[in-house]
Amino acid sequence: MDFELAEEHRMLKDLVARYVRETLIPLEAAVLAREASSGELCLLTEERARLDARSRELGLWGLDAPEEMGGADLPNVAMVGVWEEVGRSVVPYELPPDSPNLRMLREAASVEQRERYLAPYARGETVSAIAISEPGAGADPAAMSTRAVRDGDDWIIDGRKIWISRAVEADFTILMAVTDKARGARGGISAFLIDKGTPGLKVERRIPMIGGWSTYEVLLEGCRLPAAQLLGREGAGFAPMQTRLSTRRLQMAAWCLGRAQRALDMLCEYAPQRHTFGAPLAERQTVQWWVADAATRIHACRLMTYEAASRIDRDDTARMQISMVKVAATEMAWDVVDHAMQAFGAMGMTKELPLQQMANDVRLMRIYDGPSEVHRWLIARELLGPPR
Ligand SMILES: Cc1cc2nc3c(=O)[nH]c(=O)nc-3n(C[C@H](O)[C@H](O)[C@H](O)COP(=O)(O)OP(=O)(O)OC[C@H]3O[C@@H](n4cnc5c(N)ncnc54)[C@H](O)[C@@H]3O)c2cc1C
Repeated sequence: MDFELAEEHRMLKDLVARYVRETLIPLEAAVLAREASSGELCLLTEERARLDARSRELGLWGLDAPEEMGGADLPNVAMVGVWEEVGRSVVPYELPPDSPNLRMLREAASVEQRERYLAPYARGETVSAIAISEPGAGADPAAMSTRAVRDGDDWIIDGRKIWISRAVEADFTILMAVTDKARGARGGISAFLIDKGTPGLKVERRIPMIGGWSTYEVLLEGCRLPAAQLLGREGAGFAPMQTRLSTRRLQMAAWCLGRAQRALDMLCEYAPQRHTFGAPLAERQTVQWWVADAATRIHACRLMTYEAASRIDRDDTARMQISMVKVAATEMAWDVVDHAMQAFGAMGMTKELPLQQMANDVRLMRIYDGPSEVHRWLIARELLGPPR
């Protein structure tokens, strides 16, 4: 058992840390002020272009994309360090391309789809969305009712999706639909690729969420797709979708490590300076315990996250471990950020510090890609076995 990151992965993590320190963090004040005044957490076009240019310059581009498409094909254990460092900042920016849909496309795309969708996505030239959730099926995606029915060589899709991130800007959306109701998640759900502007695909409304984030409600009405838009085999959409979800859950755990570590760093810098009742906050046992517990839980979650990543790199689906790290890291970061906010007093409640944005981000992470309760239920089900 080796607890050391490979030298090249450690150097990459250090490089991303520098990028975050020198390029993302200086943008935070403007991003937070914009969110405070407009209610939207966003980057201006020129800001994004500047970030993209700098990440390209540093070679922080396509890190886990296939080599033949210009990527570095890095394993999950290397990406955990990258995601953790990026997670320190609340600037809404991911080093392109975002990994979850990349992994799903890598797993399921046909030769033609690799050329048409995966290659430009891997080069960071396109934006994608994933549409799984529905008004009647969120935590339980197998209950979805959006239908895809064959019509000659085409598919006709009807249904409604909700909470879809990036639905408006996405060049293409990976959409999950029922192709065989009787088989459900066991062979009856398929994935489709839908291009922006396809007739019958309509973004009905933007739904503002906490922290300046937005999702969208999407309507599919007689949306006709040629057979070539089926992603993977008919009825076999659930497995690549799980790969996608696992990637996001792992990434989320790493983002939480980054946010929690930064909140702890802020707490450790502030507590010795701030005096109340004649003594620094750092001398109060409450604050000392916040610091000690935060450091202990961050350490435990970091080990768990790397362990889950290395399992996936060894072709283990690691479903239970992924559920464990998703719950542990999101809940750990929530507590650590909350304690840091408490120590900063009124300043911790302002939109001038990044702490409240971290709290909002982490709060959302306790819901999407499976709420904590569902992951706990899955872990318990794995251990207890089927009902007797
Ligand atoms: C910011 C954000 C972005 C999102 N982006 C996307 C996206 O891009 N694409 C997409 O398809 N979806 C997206 N979602 C949807 C997200 O994945 C779902 O919200 C999530 O899976 C939960 O579904 P739900 O909201 O319908 O909650 P429900 O399924 O109604 O569950 C509500 C609550 O019930 C409890 N619960 C449910 N089942 C169980 C159980 N078995 N045991 C114990 N308790 C249980 C949990 O506390 C849960 O929080 C996003 C959501 C958010 C918040």
